[in-house]
Amino acid sequence: MARTKQFKAESKKLLDMMINSIYTHKEIFLRELISNASDAIDKLYFLSLTDSSVNKSREDFRIKLSVDRENRTLTIEDNGIGMSGEELEANLGTIAKSGSFSFKQENEKQEDIDIIGQFGVGFYSAFMVSRKVVVESRRFGEDTAYRWESEGAEGYRIEECEKAETGTKITLYIKDNTEEENFDEYLEQYRISSIVKKYSDFIRYPIVMDWTSSRRKEGEDNQWEEYTEEKVLNSMVPMWKKDKKELSREDYSNFYHEQFHDYSEPLKEIHYKVEGNATYSALLYIPKKAPHNYYGRDFEKGLQLYSSGVMIMDKCEDLLPDYFGFVKGLVDSEDLSLNISRELLQHDRQLKIIAANIEKKIKNELSKAMKDDREGYEEFFRSFGLGLKFGIYNTYGACRDVLEDLLMFVSSNDKKLTTLSEYVDRCPESQENIYYACGETVDKIEMLPQTELAKEKGIEILYMTEPVDEFVAKILEIYKGKKFVNISAEDFDVSTEDEKNALRTLNEENKDMFLSMKEALGEKVADVRFTHKLRNHPVCLVSEGDISIEMQKVLNSLPNSNGIKAQLALEINKDHPIVDKLKALYESDKEMLAKYAAVLYAQARLIEGLPVENPTELTDLICEIMVK
Ligand code: ADP
Repeated sequence: MARTKQFKAESKKLLDMMINSIYTHKEIFLRELISNASDAIDKLYFLSLTDSSVNKSREDFRIKLSVDRENRTLTIEDNGIGMSGEELEANLGTIAKSGSFSFKQENEKQEDIDIIGQFGVGFYSAFMVSRKVVVESRRFGEDTAYRWESEGAEGYRIEECEKAETGTKITLYIKDNTEEENFDEYLEQYRISSIVKKYSDFIRYPIVMDWTSSRRKEGEDNQWEEYTEEKVLNSMVPMWKKDKKELSREDYSNFYHEQFHDYSEPLKEIHYKVEGNATYSALLYIPKKAPHNYYGRDFEKGLQLYSSGVMIMDKCEDLLPDYFGFVKGLVDSEDLSLNISRELLQHDRQLKIIAANIEKKIKNELSKAMKDDREGYEEFFRSFGLGLKFGIYNTYGACRDVLEDLLMFVSSNDKKLTTLSEYVDRCPESQENIYYACGETVDKIEMLPQTELAKEKGIEILYMTEPVDEFVAKILEIYKGKKFVNISAEDFDVSTEDEKNALRTLNEENKDMFLSMKEALGEKVADVRFTHKLRNHPVCLVSEGDISIEMQKVLNSLPNSNGIKAQLALEINKDHPIVDKLKALYESDKEMLAKYAAVLYAQARLIEGLPVENPTELTDLICEIMVK
């Protein structure tokens, strides 16, 4: 009997981690073993091209899975290159993963999940589901076969064994079920078949299994018999490697549903191949509908990453910028190694090139969709537009080149979505600004007094209803030479020079009255004055300085906002009948004037959608004035 050998320290650690793993996707062990088998076949296949003694053609290669429910074993067998005794020792006794594992002592459980989930761990992952693993292997060109056996932490044994065919056979003794976990599933043919489909569908060699079904016994109506036949579990050709011309809309659509579990139709698929700096194929989908958690913290963006048809990562986030996080799909590159670590991947030059290409591609396709499929694009934008806006906001505009042309806002012309570029193309050459107004809803914005004036002057306004909108306008500042101007800000003034002068004179003449009103209002306003911007409404509030009223609302809804205040001026419609009343009160009853000022100020706040500071005081005041 062979002596039990100890694993090398690092290997032992990894092994312990596998045995005690709390990782929930233990099924990936099968992907790892199948991909090892496929690599081993590759090696022998390449050898067969130059060495006639291999005596095998491509069709002879296969990976065979078998289940023995009685003995609780699952076997993975390949007819690849095999391993010699020394190779078994070297490959399975030590892990040789270049820098993939920097073990941290502190948080081992977390580490467990990181390592397994993100780079896969190769052969040892078998121990997540097995109490014992036996590897029998015969190297091509050798007569002696060897058997490697281990029950985990205790160590391993290697001894000679009988094996007729070249290749490797791995037998997993599946663990017994525990209270938390069901290991029986790895002995069920349907489960195994679905794991193969999920992770290894595109392995280039057939993965076969004896498949047991039942059928009616011939000549007997009510008697059934079981029969077994060999079934190929994988489709072998990656869909994305096929020629676009061979694929129908339906193929793309089915693949999308199955692979990405979104059963609505996507806006677009993007399927392309690149050769050169980075060689890869990509199949990407732009959805129309946002998943329910898209704007939540638990949403994970990312593309599937394949290395020559073998999936190496389910959600590679480095391939997508956050603002395109809605894109689903996959990238397959032969430039990436199968066991590249997450850390290394982040610094991988190829991956950076690929990610940059993908970003460009997505932007172009979205621009195209905007032109060719406006309805579809608008549906897309309603789902994901907010994310695009946050893209500008979160990067302080660094990615404006990518995103600004994709934005849409509701236009005051027809209340439909319009782009900035369409707005600029439509507006008169003499118009220097892009006018916008903010509010909770389109209807509320339409009710703003300032909107009334702008519309009367024939000015198109962009209605901004998302809290982030105005921040986007401030960050963009200028688009195609035109400045963003909020029609509720003091710098919104479309009057002529004469009108401006007349107003200035009028304000000058009444400055004492305004001073008295301002004193009554105290800190609440920085100024009280007439305006010619209003038509029917008596009053409005305008913001002076950088922070607008809408921004004040947003900022104050954030934690730790410290009560940020916009600087406000109360403007009174110079042509409104209330003006005469105010003038009269200024002469006769300053105390009542103060009360009027308070009511007008409260009205202006209500119009802007701001809360009134003291509702009981306000209603009392109104009543007092009413009974007068
Ligand atoms: P990796 O595949 O990342 O190198 P593994 O731990 O999965 O790491 O495997 C270690 C090594 O064992 C492989 O590199 C390969 O040389 C060898 N090996 C594993 N499985 C097989 C197999 N089925 N046939 C031949 N060699 C194998």
